[in-house]
Amino acid sequence: MMSVSKLPQTGTTIFTVMSALANEVGAINLSQGFPDYQTDPKLINLVTKAMKNGHNQYAPMAGWMPLREQIAHKTEKLYGARYNPDTEITITAGGTQAIFTAICAAIHPNDEVIVFEPAYDCYAPAIKLMGGTVKSLELEPPDYRIAWDMVKRLISNRTRMIILNSPHNPTSTILRQEDIDELTAIVKNRDILILSDEVYEHLIFDGETHHSMARYAELQQRSFIVSSFGKLFHTTGWKLGYCLAPAAMMQEFRKIHQYLVFSVNTPMQVAIAEYLKYESTYLSLPGFFEQKRDAFRQGLAQTRFELLPCSGSYFQSVRYTNISNVKDTDFAIQVAKEFGVASIPVSAFYSKGTDYRVLRFCFAKKQETLDKAVERLMKL
Ligand code: PMP
Repeated sequence: MMSVSKLPQTGTTIFTVMSALANEVGAINLSQGFPDYQTDPKLINLVTKAMKNGHNQYAPMAGWMPLREQIAHKTEKLYGARYNPDTEITITAGGTQAIFTAICAAIHPNDEVIVFEPAYDCYAPAIKLMGGTVKSLELEPPDYRIAWDMVKRLISNRTRMIILNSPHNPTSTILRQEDIDELTAIVKNRDILILSDEVYEHLIFDGETHHSMARYAELQQRSFIVSSFGKLFHTTGWKLGYCLAPAAMMQEFRKIHQYLVFSVNTPMQVAIAEYLKYESTYLSLPGFFEQKRDAFRQGLAQTRFELLPCSGSYFQSVRYTNISNVKDTDFAIQVAKEFGVASIPVSAFYSKGTDYRVLRFCFAKKQETLDKAVERLMKL
């Protein structure tokens, strides 16, 4: 019997709850972030080929070397940073495992970690499991800008890590050059690590730059950078991602990784190593998703929702104060049950449940799915 929970405040993630509700009531599921269209048959053929060619046993602990080499090449080309595939790149079971492993490797009891809320919901439980303390800073709609003077006030001699996520889930904001400058000034000469969740690195719009930590030496040398092939290749169910970090940090990361999963599935790593050679697969992503964003926003403009800005990721948030003043958790259930569209209530990403009456919709969907959803939302 488990008499004492290690995570007494933690329930079932909102993604599971809302996807289950969508299935139960037959709603269009714009809640959890996953595409409803097929991935490229070329990539699927490469996986089949890898299996047929006998790549069905354990991969090396840190990942299939040709894949790590491709990642090193891509990172250097895009962000100008050199990562050694041998010692500084590890293939993981999705971004989620990379995040957990980095936190597990870095956080000691009583260490403090600064987290910006609304925050993707896997950060805080991992910090707490390690005996760390979450120091959260709430951001507000519509812009969700980071108030860096508040960050400075949160820094103490126990601050061990700052977690960043750009492009951001759920708010669709991105870090800008001024954020990078402020962050650099704060961490300089301090023993503070950065966990940079960059799983939406290629989902960035309007010609904006992705300010990867890999671009800035002062930040890069203290960062675990996390990426996900689920977002890159429309394959969230494959659960493959990777982590980049300087060798000394990666050494600690791998001490955990080797006992958490040892290695991750081989045929998909072999296939992705091949597929990554086609740069257009990821360079075309901003355009692909920008077109979806624009079409979805145009549709939503015909509803009574107030559209919040969307600079990256595949989420669009809306404020519904013109329509209702019920709690966002209740409103999301009502919209799913009565109007047939499932979303995520953004209060789920604030530890205190702060509720600005905002819902998040995922637009990584076929045009017909988005059209049908808009048609239903227009009735609100
Ligand atoms: N971070 C963020 C911000 C995410 O949105 C997601 C996926 N929803 C992840 C990490 C996890 O990525 P993966 O599915 O590769 O584990």
